[in-house]
Amino acid sequence: MQNSTRLAVRCGRLYDGTGAAPRTNVTVVIAGGAIESVVANDASVAAERTLEAAAVTPGLINAHVHLEFSGEPDLGVVVLASPGIKTLTAAANARRSLEAGVTTVRDLGGTGSNAIEVRDAIAAGNLPGPTIVPAGRALCMTGGHGHFIGGRETDGPWEARKAVREQLKAGAECIKLIATGGVLTKGAVPGQDQLSEEEMHAAIVEARTHGMRVAAHAIGTSGIKNALRAGVDSIEHGHLLDDEAIDLFRANDAFLVPTLAAVSCIYEHATEGRQPDFVVRKATALYESARVNIAHAYRSGVAIAGGSDAGTPYNYHANYAYEVELMHTLIGMSPGEALRAATQTAARLLGVSSGVIETGRPADLLLLDGDLETETLALRSPRIVIKAGAIAASHGNG
Ligand SMILES: [Zn+2]
Repeated sequence: MQNSTRLAVRCGRLYDGTGAAPRTNVTVVIAGGAIESVVANDASVAAERTLEAAAVTPGLINAHVHLEFSGEPDLGVVVLASPGIKTLTAAANARRSLEAGVTTVRDLGGTGSNAIEVRDAIAAGNLPGPTIVPAGRALCMTGGHGHFIGGRETDGPWEARKAVREQLKAGAECIKLIATGGVLTKGAVPGQDQLSEEEMHAAIVEARTHGMRVAAHAIGTSGIKNALRAGVDSIEHGHLLDDEAIDLFRANDAFLVPTLAAVSCIYEHATEGRQPDFVVRKATALYESARVNIAHAYRSGVAIAGGSDAGTPYNYHANYAYEVELMHTLIGMSPGEALRAATQTAARLLGVSSGVIETGRPADLLLLDGDLETETLALRSPRIVIKAGAIAASHGNG
């Protein structure tokens, strides 16, 4: 279907992504790839095709993915694949994301420019997939977290500026910094600082010059605060944040992307023996404090944007709905608030205009068979996915 088709979507309940109470019995009219209007169901609407759904939401936005990785238990094996296989894997994961209702992703680091190339192929109409906002290679210190999965080793402020320029040259739209150790890198201690505040500040100044936003991987308390003081737009993970960090989040209007699925998926599969021991050990040690601290940050008013770290062990690109569920069950958001984190708030963080269903926005939306509040698993299997006004995936008798 071309996106020039006029579509009418009759909604039992419309969740517009803003966190407002759902509206009942309204119709979303789509034309030219955008939302033309939202009208009452009994209004007369001239459309070439009319669809119906129990509930309608914006397409989901996953603010933290790694398209090159597919949820394999040991990333040390995956990185040995050839460059061609890595590009094809990124393309396959882009398609899986879209089919599962994820219409926009931010790719926060790979071994090269794979996610950038897949973005371009999707934009050219040659591959199915979500809108991709890619970071290129993450910037880490020499030997820092992520160095073995393509991290661009960077030491000193001028080197940091050069590394940002390299990602810009490759076609990246945002920048990823590694502020502390992490779970998946052997020898990296999650609580320890890595890139310094001075290095991150230099990278951020350079990125801002080119209109790029900056995300920082940060688990340890001190590294989270270094990254916030340096001026990042978002902290990824943030597991060991404290009250001083919460004050910095609020003072800087920074977002927290808690990636609850990442540590949960490792933890849930800990006894299967397929993940490296150091990964299981580090994730298990973080699990409870992550849940408590992130819930505290949420209750304290920190803006939470949805992002799952899809691609990490057992954390599949098609399973972003699990992150939305965890924001409900682990940190106490209502289903509507969790949906908002994965739509409007994530869109604000990425600087994209999707994520809300209102006139003039891109027509990215999901048609669900169940209602979100009574059947929180309804997001797992959208019946129809619409991206830019065209039906991108249709499951069952849609
Ligand atoms: Zn990540």
